[in-house]
Amino acid sequence: MALFTKEEALAYHKVPRKGKVEVVPVKPCVTQKDLSLAYSPGVAEACREIDADPATAADYTGRSNLVGVVTDGTAVLGLGNIGPLAAKPVMEGKGVLFKTFADIDVFDINLEVQSPDQLIEIVKAMEPTFGGINLEDIKAPECFYIEEKLKKEMNIPVFHDDQHGTAVISGAALMNSCEITGNRMEDLKVVVVGAGAAGTACAKFYLQLGVQKKNLFMFDSRGLIYKGREGLNKYKEELAQDKNYGSLEEVIKGADMFLGLSTKGLLSQDMVRSMAPVPVIFAMANPDPEITYPEAKEANPKCIMGTGRSDFPNQVNNVSGFPYIFRGALDVGATEINEEMKIAAAQALAALAKEPVQKETLDAYGVTELSFGTDYVIPKPLDSRVLEWVVPAVAQAAMDTGVATQTIPDMDAYRRQLRD
Ligand code: NAP
Ligand code: MG
Repeated sequence: MALFTKEEALAYHKVPRKGKVEVVPVKPCVTQKDLSLAYSPGVAEACREIDADPATAADYTGRSNLVGVVTDGTAVLGLGNIGPLAAKPVMEGKGVLFKTFADIDVFDINLEVQSPDQLIEIVKAMEPTFGGINLEDIKAPECFYIEEKLKKEMNIPVFHDDQHGTAVISGAALMNSCEITGNRMEDLKVVVVGAGAAGTACAKFYLQLGVQKKNLFMFDSRGLIYKGREGLNKYKEELAQDKNYGSLEEVIKGADMFLGLSTKGLLSQDMVRSMAPVPVIFAMANPDPEITYPEAKEANPKCIMGTGRSDFPNQVNNVSGFPYIFRGALDVGATEINEEMKIAAAQALAALAKEPVQKETLDAYGVTELSFGTDYVIPKPLDSRVLEWVVPAVAQAAMDTGVATQTIPDMDAYRRQLRD
């Protein structure tokens, strides 16, 4: 049953105030003195300080808590290339999530551009405005080039959530799945269907977590990706197998994991039956997965099954990642979000799934019990403890790897402050 009607969705966006976000001053502006502090001449004092020492912009402006959510509208949800204007509700929505889950302010930047290089130029020029850049709904393979270049050329975190958010959350779920099945990452045979933004980033992240390249089989719409095949770009080539091992039906035999980031209905029940005895199946095409939860469970009741959907167990929801990864990065003035920070986020999420679940979370999902196991390998997106588990882990990893420009001297106090 749908949770809402079309009319409700449109009314939500339109009334009482149009859109989903507003800009709210955080300093008083009531008296003549307030006015002269907020703007000229008082504001000049802050300008002079920043001019003398640019680092003080973190103290005298909202920059260090402000993220630009940037899109060109080329790959919006499942809607495709609908352009930057029609993408704006999604970007405002991202702002709502950043604010609600991690108290981060967002300007959504919806760009009508003609090329990736034009987008790169514009975003680079916005560095004085923002503490971080969240790239959103930009199509593959351009998104890889754009992110790579911006990461190199900007001194603030640049993070394409459709890639790395998905990688971090599903990576956490995979770590815990391995714990349940008793498999080591190094031994897993992994089949990834979908070599777009999300599939590529997940595959690369799993390699970081220990999966061996020789055991990783990537498929796109033309089949297995292998060296010398037609239609490969350089990003697909990086993940290509050494030779053609055949169709999905053939390659999936004995696989420990299936990751679907492609399209509806590609994984059959027979394929599930041909996998390892306790297979991990993350079928994440939205809104309709590569195989549904009931179908997968019917084919093999022991499988560990996750989807992108909220109406079945093990929802891989990016909201468990990006707000907290950015919170941790911003709080230490990180110059980038590196692999170690992403791994730390995944490990923290994985660890939290083993803690007893609080009543408020159970109530939010209308269930009486959730405990670590096949149907609960990642924390629920609405579990309020994700903040205090993931954020300090990310901040600590930034400090440990030398990308932090500020230190948090007392992590326990920081954790308590996040909680309160
Ligand atoms: P994308 O960049 O467009 O990539 C889609 C990939 O799927 C492409 O590599 C495409 O092949 C491949 N594909 C399409 N039809 C196929 C087929 N019949 N057989 C094999 N491969 C096929 O999209 P994306 O952003 O990565 O997202 C992919 C899907 O994952 C979407 O449904 C999205 O909603 C979902 N997703 C879910 C989550 C989540 O649940 N948390 C997060 C991110 C994405 P070609 O390269 O040959 O075109
Ligand atoms: Mg997105």
